Amino acid sequence: MNKYDILVIGGGPAGITIAKTIQGKQSVAIIRPEDHSMIYCAMPYAIEGLLPIGKTLKKDAIVTDAKATLIRDTVTHINFQEKTVSTEKNEKISYNKLVIATGATPVLPPVPGINLAGIKSFKTEDDLRGILNLVDGGLKKAVVVGAGAIGIELAQAFNEKKIETHLVDMANSILPNMVDYGIVEDTQEALIKSGINLHLKSKVTSLKGHESVEEVLLENGRIIHFDSLDQCSETGAKITNGLVVFAVGMKPVVDLFKDTDLDIQKDGIVVNDKMETNIKDVFAAGDCCQFTSGISGKVISGKLATNAVPMARVLANNFLGQKQTYPGFFNGTATRIGDFYIGGTGFSEKTAEKLYDIETGYAEFTTIFPIMPGAKKIRLKLIADKKTHKILGGQFVSGEPVADKVDKITMAIQYGITLEELVNFSYSAQPYQSFYPANNLIVKAAGEILKKL
Ligand SMILES: Cc1cc2nc3c(=O)[nH]c(=O)nc-3n(C[C@H](O)[C@H](O)[C@H](O)COP(=O)(O)OP(=O)(O)OC[C@H]3O[C@@H](n4cnc5c(N)ncnc54)[C@H](O)[C@@H]3O)c2cc1C
Repeated sequence: MNKYDILVIGGGPAGITIAKTIQGKQSVAIIRPEDHSMIYCAMPYAIEGLLPIGKTLKKDAIVTDAKATLIRDTVTHINFQEKTVSTEKNEKISYNKLVIATGATPVLPPVPGINLAGIKSFKTEDDLRGILNLVDGGLKKAVVVGAGAIGIELAQAFNEKKIETHLVDMANSILPNMVDYGIVEDTQEALIKSGINLHLKSKVTSLKGHESVEEVLLENGRIIHFDSLDQCSETGAKITNGLVVFAVGMKPVVDLFKDTDLDIQKDGIVVNDKMETNIKDVFAAGDCCQFTSGISGKVISGKLATNAVPMARVLANNFLGQKQTYPGFFNGTATRIGDFYIGGTGFSEKTAEKLYDIETGYAEFTTIFPIMPGAKKIRLKLIADKKTHKILGGQFVSGEPVADKVDKITMAIQYGITLEELVNFSYSAQPYQSFYPANNLIVKAAGEILKKL
């Protein structure tokens, strides 16, 4: 029986980060069933045809070059007393420390008809290949359920491929967990103008069909209908030329532990800020964990690679003797919609006002000096706590990428910077790289809030 200092279940960003941080200073093995780890964020762009599938697959060398062992297998049982795991291929492996990094899997809501052919989720290489086969085979109509970043990126990919695309969400506006309506308004219009059929305030109530999906029924009475193909299935049922993809959220992959003493709550495995579980020498990191907001300290969802990686890094550094702690989720995210780049961090106004007495401020300038060629609009919304004057959230929309700007606001939130500090923050300016020295987006928005307090 092989034994490792650190045995990691899962080869996603969390598992890989453990191997890359330890760099052979202790023996590490990663167990994962897939042929390839994926660059999930790039998957929509493979559907769009911008990237070949191969570019979305990580090379195994990312693990083996870090002097870790890669085991292609599935863990089927864990014995926490004996400190061993058993696998589908009948291997038994022993560990000193176990890291659970089993990730999360897309939620398929329990609506009638969810098991019909033509209904898919979007996470694995198989999902990607399956959808690409349909696209390459002449798919005519696609319904994407969920207007979060993944749903929108996927819908745009279908639209680019000239497939009739419907994007459905029960929320009032797109990207409901990232930004408020005031920031997303123009972007939403652009999405519609691009040809995507947007159905907001529209929950999917059922899916109808004989073997494959024929109709998507929405709560507001609308029905999205798929045309039949000329041929029928072996049983004589109609086959439709349509696809429904659900991108409505993720749930932790924790079934393996359901009959164990491991503390698991609604959003995953409970860990402390050192990624320790309630079982000695058993740790967890990434999407399989439940964790708290770095702002409110309350449990919040944060199934992002940008959370999984730092969680795993803290854990691996502690294995190497450091004493790091994970600060919690701030959930900075960004996406692109047509010519708009959009991003948010911390709490949206909608979420923040449930927990704090808040004030908001806006600023709008250009990405570079407005007299320079190529200047584009950029707009910021800041949300602050009236009591402490600390920043609770920030949202950007711009004609240029905003991820680094989102990160700047995250830093302000994470390190408790106040409005008074922000209005005095020292920035740089250059005609091709910023607005005039006379003003700065963050300074202006923070000042707007202070004026109202
Ligand atoms: C389409 C898409 C786009 C995304 N875009 C972004 C983005 O732009 N930015 C961002 O920050 N995040 C993004 N995410 C989210 C991000 O991919 C996840 O947060 C991240 O992958 C979580 O990493 P993880 O290592 O915790 O879990 P995962 O990546 O889910 O990896 C879990 C691993 O555990 C393995 N496993 C599970 N059970 C077992 C078992 N019993 N035995 C062995 N192995 C097991 C799995 O097979 C897998 O290898 C996106 C996700 C998707 C699907």
